[in-house]
Order: sequence, then C-alpha cells, then structure tokens
Amino acid sequence: MNDELKTLIELQQFDSRILALKIRIDTAPSQFSADEASFKEANAALEKAKQNQLSVEKKKKEKETEIEDIKEKIKKLKTRSADIKNNKEYQAHLKEIEKNEKDIKAAEDLILSLMEKLDESQKAVLSENTRINAEKLKLDAAKAELEKEIEQYRVELEGLKKERPGIVSKISKDTYNFYMSILRDKRGLAVVKASNEICCGCNLHIPPQMFVELKTSDEILQCQECRRILYYEHPSPEPAGGAKQQ
Ligand SMILES: [Zn+2]
Repeated sequence: MNDELKTLIELQQFDSRILALKIRIDTAPSQFSADEASFKEANAALEKAKQNQLSVEKKKKEKETEIEDIKEKIKKLKTRSADIKNNKEYQAHLKEIEKNEKDIKAAEDLILSLMEKLDESQKAVLSENTRINAEKLKLDAAKAELEKEIEQYRVELEGLKKERPGIVSKISKDTYNFYMSILRDKRGLAVVKASNEICCGCNLHIPPQMFVELKTSDEILQCQECRRILYYEHPSPEPAGGAKQQ
C-alpha cells in the first residue's frame, strides 16, 4: 500500500477520535442538564408540597380565629341577657346565641378535616424531602462522574493534538490539503474502507474493476459517489497449521 495512504488512514483515525472527543466534551453540558431535570422536578414537587402545607395551616388558623371571635360574640350576647325586656326579645336573643354556637360547631368540624389534610400534607413534605435528598446525591455523583470523564477526554484530546503534526509531516502538503478538503466536505470522514465492493463512507457500490484496482494499485483512489479516499484492507494471513488462536 502507498505510504501516503497508510498515513492518511492513520490521520483519519486520529481525526475521527479528535472529533468524537470534541463532540463528547461539547455535549457534556446538555447531558448534565438531563441529569439536572429530575432534580429540578423533585425540587418543584417539594415546593408545591410545602405551599400546600402552608395553605392548609393558614386555613386552620383562620378557622381558629373565627371560633375565638364567635366565642367572644357569644360572651357579649350573654352579658346582655339581663337587659332584655320581653319574651319576644328573649327568644330572638336565644336564637342568635344558638346560631353562633352552630357556627362554632361547623368551624370545629372544618378544623378536624383540615387537621387530617395537614397531616397528609406534612407527610407529603417529608416524602418529597426524602426524594430530593436522594436526587441531590444522584446529581452530585453524576456531576462528579461526568467531570472526571470529561477531564480524561481533555487530556486525551491534548495528547492527540500534540501528536497530529508528527503524522501530518509524513505526507506532502498537497495530499494533506486534499485530505482536509474532503474531511471538511464530508463532516469529518475523508478516508474509508472499501469492503465487498461497497464504499464504507456512502455505502454505495464500487465498480468491480475499480475494486480490483484498489486491491492491487498503489494509487490513491476516490469513491466515484462520495469522493472519499478509499482503501482496501487485505485480510490477515491464516495462522500456521490452521489452528484457531484465541
Ligand atoms: Zn463513497
């Protein structure tokens, strides 16, 4: 095989890895936001549970104040009993006290049901608290794991970038420019394998004559469909004796 083609294959492997690393590093924040979404959801649920608890507490407090007010009213009504002149007035007076006492009863019933609701809402807050603590742990772990992973990618990327000029120096400037123009044009894939008369870049058919040429010629050939540089990988020879090696 042409030495420049060998170098181009090597360069493509480098560039594919560089591209993959760059994509991985660039998309890390979006992956992180996916991890964050369930934490945010848990946080929103906790806030909602807390608001619900506060609203029930407020209603209960209002009813308790209402009862105090009615009790005060009854007390005042009772102190006026002595001033009542006739039976008609007295009946109306009793009725008013009775009505207020009924109001107290209704408010007390409501407080009982509010207490049940309060108990439920407190349990919901506790449960959401447990959930958010678990989500926080999960998020922190995912964050740490991702940061570690990204750091490894950065180190690898820096290493590859440092090594790349050494590979580039093995080919002519023209060949390099030719490679780079296809690389840019074909979204990072300029050199591809030809296998079973198929271009592994565009998956289209390679004419049989050209496929033979790929196997035998020392020329750098391009796919007629996608313009990518093609290479043929000769199968490695069978191990001696035909025994399968593991
Ligand atoms: Zn092709």
